[in-house]
Amino acid sequence: MRLIIVSNRLPVAVSNSNGKFSMEKSAGGLVSGLSDFLKSLKNNAKGVREYLWLGWPGDKIDKEDEEYVRQKVQKDFSASPIFLSKKLMDKVYLGFCNRTLWPLFHYFPNYAHFDLDYWFEYKRMNKIFCDELLKEIRDGDIIWIHDYHLMLLPAMLREHVSNPIGFFLHIPFPSYEMYRMLHKESRTEILEGLIGADLIGFHTHDYTQHFLRCVLRILGKENHMGKISMPDHTVQVDTFPMGIDFDKFYLMDVSPFPSNKPGRGEPRMVLSVDRLDYSKGIINRLLGFELFLKRHPEWHGKVCMNMIVVPSRTGVGAYRKIKSSLDELVGKINGSYGSISWTPVIYQYTSLPHKELIATYRRSDVALLTPLRDGMNLVAKEYIASLEDHRGMLILSEFTGAAKELSESLVINPNNIDEIAEAIEEALNVPMKQQIRGNKIMQKRLRRYNVTKWANDFVNKLVETSHISRDSVSRKLLNQSLLQRLTGNFRKAKSRIIIVNYDGTLVPYTKYPASAEPPEALLRLLKNLDAQIETDIVIISSRGKDELDEWLGGLPLNLTAEHGSWIREANNNEWALLKPLSSEWKEEVLPILEMYTDRLPGSYIQERDYSVAWHYHKSDIEQASQLVKEVNDHLLSITTNISAHVIHGSKVIEVSNSGINKGELAMHWLSRKEYDFILAIGSGWSDELLFQTMPPHAWSIKVGLAQTAANYVVKGQTDAIAILDKLRDH
Ligand code: UDP
Repeated sequence: MRLIIVSNRLPVAVSNSNGKFSMEKSAGGLVSGLSDFLKSLKNNAKGVREYLWLGWPGDKIDKEDEEYVRQKVQKDFSASPIFLSKKLMDKVYLGFCNRTLWPLFHYFPNYAHFDLDYWFEYKRMNKIFCDELLKEIRDGDIIWIHDYHLMLLPAMLREHVSNPIGFFLHIPFPSYEMYRMLHKESRTEILEGLIGADLIGFHTHDYTQHFLRCVLRILGKENHMGKISMPDHTVQVDTFPMGIDFDKFYLMDVSPFPSNKPGRGEPRMVLSVDRLDYSKGIINRLLGFELFLKRHPEWHGKVCMNMIVVPSRTGVGAYRKIKSSLDELVGKINGSYGSISWTPVIYQYTSLPHKELIATYRRSDVALLTPLRDGMNLVAKEYIASLEDHRGMLILSEFTGAAKELSESLVINPNNIDEIAEAIEEALNVPMKQQIRGNKIMQKRLRRYNVTKWANDFVNKLVETSHISRDSVSRKLLNQSLLQRLTGNFRKAKSRIIIVNYDGTLVPYTKYPASAEPPEALLRLLKNLDAQIETDIVIISSRGKDELDEWLGGLPLNLTAEHGSWIREANNNEWALLKPLSSEWKEEVLPILEMYTDRLPGSYIQERDYSVAWHYHKSDIEQASQLVKEVNDHLLSITTNISAHVIHGSKVIEVSNSGINKGELAMHWLSRKEYDFILAIGSGWSDELLFQTMPPHAWSIKVGLAQTAANYVVKGQTDAIAILDKLRDH
């Protein structure tokens, strides 16, 4: 099996200096983490043995060099470049990704730009990725898509391939109130894009829950233990906190860089490392350090803050502004407290190479990491992992994903400057024994759930999930050869019956049920089928008899209304009850439903002769899903003693006469005559009873790829029509 990794950037930085190409592996956490996992592929439990990495190689490549770069990165890095223009990437990467999604997903709505042009370009970029991927994907490949740049890609790919698709988000997924600030179109399409995957992973349980809630509130899709049922697959949403390559940090020989903690008489080191980003809380950190110096003059000259700020997204205005605020504040602190022999804040605006960074981690007595929001924060994990002497104190913001796993550190709220100042003082005074004990516990955790384990867990779960979801569906899919057999059976049969549900089978579900009139072509098809010798057509519906009369009454068909309470036989224009029924129970049921209708805005009652339905598809889905349990229980408690029963359908609770359902109805038709061809097609929850009562030789077909009692499934409503069309007399 081959793993295809897709990320916005390739793991290799390509540059061209006077016609000479240099290709260097990128240094980021994802790249170095995944590289180790990829190296260990030969041991993968699920049989993943090779990989290909797709992404953008940067904008430093001329058109005429593309082919050379393609071959080179393929050979040296097992990567396939997707060439995109700088103009497009400015709008997508600097635009929708870093001016819209990044601020919003990190709870900075004030920094967010909602420019529709950015969104359209984001869609275009995802489509280009999809087209390029389709050229590479082979049967048996599994696909793992990374991060917020490519959230539309899972659903785009699913339209074309049936390979397992996984998606991992490396940044936080925000709460519903924050997420819904996106334009209606983009907030819906992003969620729809993501649930095209078989497996979606987040760093923390909170992000997973936020996502599931957004899917519920915006798409109206419920989940069961993180599983969302889609027509053609099941999406599993789960938490996988990303780890680091522990041993690389713990065992790294960092010479020639000094890595010993400051000796006696030297100032103690408080380390601060981040990309320059407003989400990292660097200003708060400096304010905290300033307050600490103000409150604790005894530490003057005895402690330094070593602040490494890595340049980032310099093309985005907000980042340039924060840089000048930082420069100003560092100057102010050093000016106010520094002396000729002591600089309180040592400030480097640069990126340190790996070895030097680890040496810096080891030299630091304290690491002060105060993001206001951070999906994970790998630096925190790397700091702990690097402490070969187990000495050092981590102060970590509670708003980082990493804080969930590093609870032995000093976890603080970075919005509280006071708390930061006090935490610095506390960290400098924590007894050595306690530091060692806490760090050892955290190191053990980080060593066990390292990045290889993280990636293996994700990939293995992806393989498992997609097998389960595809098996149950593909086993039952009505393919061409089955369809031929069905048609052959039909032609050979001496007496035939077709029992078919109306909404969702003969016509598509509509937002406004009253507008689901049958089109002319459907009426002609039904007429044609009905006219064939010894062929009975039965239309079953939960609709009332008046609607069915109006739409289908002109044809000589067998009609049944209200799930089978009423029957109108083909040769008779009169409606009759299937069996003697009573509607007295409605007097008890209606007041109860009215009470709940008052309590749940948007819900409404639909009263028929022998059934009552309480619909809540227009109501707030969260409020409804809580109240519905109560309604169901209430109705069940009173209907046990009366001749009515309660069925909970899709966003509807229906009460009807006991013994009236599509199963009973099917028995009525099938008991009248010996049929050697039986076809039952339905799409809704109430059709399950119909399928359950079918004799073994019947063809029962469910419209929509879902768990069903039917023998076969087809994808959509048009497939149901296509089956009937095959049976037409030409
Ligand atoms: N990093 C680096 N050199 C530096 C500072 C940081 O290579 O001078 C790396 C660091 O090792 C870490 C990554 O940058 O792996 C930062 O990851 P993190 O999750 O902390 O933050 P992000 O930048 O992804 O928001």
